[in-house]
Amino acid sequence: MTKFSRRSFLGTAAAASAAAVSAPAMAASTSAGNLPAKWDDTVDVVVLGCGGAGMMAACQAHDAGGKVAIYDAGQSPFHTATNLCGGLFTAWGSRMQNADPEGKKDSWQQFAEDIMAYGNYMSLKEPVYCFAKHSGKAFDFLEDAGLAKHHLEPYAGHSQLRAHRQDSFKGRDYIEVLVKQLDKRGLKINHGMGVTKFYFDPATNTVVGVQVGEGDKAKNVKANKGVIMATGGITGTPESLDRWVPSVAGKGVAIGGPKNDGTAMMVAVRDVGVPLSHMQYIASYPCGIVVNGRNGPYCRWWFITNNGGILVNKNGQRFITEKEGICHVTPHLAFQPEGCHYVLTDQDGWDRTLQKIKLGALIGLPSWPAERVEAEFKAGKNLWKCDTIDELCQKSGVNADGLKKQLDVWNKAVESKNDTQFGRTDQQWKLGRGPWYMIRMEPWNNLSCGGVRVNEDMQVLGWDMKPVNNFYAAGETVAGVHGAFYCGGNACGFAHTSGWVAGQNVMGKKIG
Ligand SMILES: Cc1cc2nc3c(=O)[nH]c(=O)nc-3n(C[C@H](O)[C@H](O)[C@H](O)COP(=O)(O)OP(=O)(O)OC[C@H]3O[C@@H](n4cnc5c(N)ncnc54)[C@H](O)[C@@H]3O)c2cc1C
Repeated sequence: MTKFSRRSFLGTAAAASAAAVSAPAMAASTSAGNLPAKWDDTVDVVVLGCGGAGMMAACQAHDAGGKVAIYDAGQSPFHTATNLCGGLFTAWGSRMQNADPEGKKDSWQQFAEDIMAYGNYMSLKEPVYCFAKHSGKAFDFLEDAGLAKHHLEPYAGHSQLRAHRQDSFKGRDYIEVLVKQLDKRGLKINHGMGVTKFYFDPATNTVVGVQVGEGDKAKNVKANKGVIMATGGITGTPESLDRWVPSVAGKGVAIGGPKNDGTAMMVAVRDVGVPLSHMQYIASYPCGIVVNGRNGPYCRWWFITNNGGILVNKNGQRFITEKEGICHVTPHLAFQPEGCHYVLTDQDGWDRTLQKIKLGALIGLPSWPAERVEAEFKAGKNLWKCDTIDELCQKSGVNADGLKKQLDVWNKAVESKNDTQFGRTDQQWKLGRGPWYMIRMEPWNNLSCGGVRVNEDMQVLGWDMKPVNNFYAAGETVAGVHGAFYCGGNACGFAHTSGWVAGQNVMGKKIG
């Protein structure tokens, strides 16, 4: 993989932002890009990346008659964000949605509106429209290809029934089906071959090929029809996450495909002069239990707060209504002491919670086996179970006076059915009988929302907002789908849908 040193990265990043104020200079800087003396290989379509977006694009380009080569920086399609995902895929117009009387009420326009409203209208309409219009067909392709069992479920932020969920809750199902589809077509993934250069001809505004791999393995590959960049986002490493998103620097869990560090985006900035957009927006859940550096599981605290628990900060104070959408909770964490928060409940609340969700269940609380949860209670680093509030605060470092005051206020809110702090309306259980249970959480940064800009055909836009010939993008590397906030299911759905569209359009179809 091309290594950008911190200095060269910042230099190039500065160049990228300079494009906004000095676009012609940016274009001129790319004219130095020269073509290789010889091509090692010539195909119709080069696909970069073998996650859901890349493999879907490769299948579509092949089916449209293209000779396709796939290159990936990593070692396996099972080491991708798609494989890690929770198997939630939002789509309009799938067979499954159409067959459901509730689902049938949806429209692509309503889907697009929901995405944009959830994202505070910071989305870019081109990728949103493309996604909303074509997602059902992309999902049907996976279903026809033998996708494992799935169902429709309502999901927060979606006004209509359109969240297709794998029964397994695993993105691995998509990868398995697409790997089989590649095999069926005789398409092979070239691993350990990250993109190191885009060959760009400024005279014709065309990407003509790529260099992939490094050292002895480096190869120049000409792409007669085009290159599809499907190289994922930037949350794969703490370094790439922190570099682009200073508000989480040094904090929380970084999770994503291990090669998803934004290198390909920066190669595109350097060689093609395309601007990046929305880089500081990430989807981050307020649910990460930090263990082993920047790793750790996900704690579904809403099962606890729906059963009487509350969220507090290190001062022992509530800071938000616990009913808020989770991606809307995360930004508040940056302003809490130590950037963390805690879910707190008493014995009755814990018992009520465990009647609904078992420790060690697939949808975990946190997603650890029951024995590990018990061991963590004993270890007392992130999870605590204590007989009294004083003991709980002494062990966790949460302010005891603050927490006691907060409990008084909360219990009065339950009694009066009036949450004067944050307007929560479902409070019915006072907190009061120990032992007390508490879990400390930081942001769980699992997908990024920035990257290259595209038109509705998934063609990458240059500094002048004109499409670059023969250059397409798909998946998490595309900017502006989610705007300011990601709404569940839209990333996995977008990855496969944009791959479906890009793979056909690169071969000359007109899906937009
Ligand atoms: C834990 C987790 C849970 C999630 N759950 C959901 C969910 O339930 N629903 C939802 O909508 N979204 C979810 N997401 C987000 C969603 O999974 C991703 O946005 C989506 O799958 C991205 O697909 P992709 O193909 O763009 O990227 P990936 O699947 O990550 O594939 C990118 C590929 O590009 C390769 N690559 C990287 N850099 C280079 C380079 N320089 N050159 C060549 N190749 C390169 C990588 O090795 C990788 O194989 C989740 C994400 C995570 C991490």
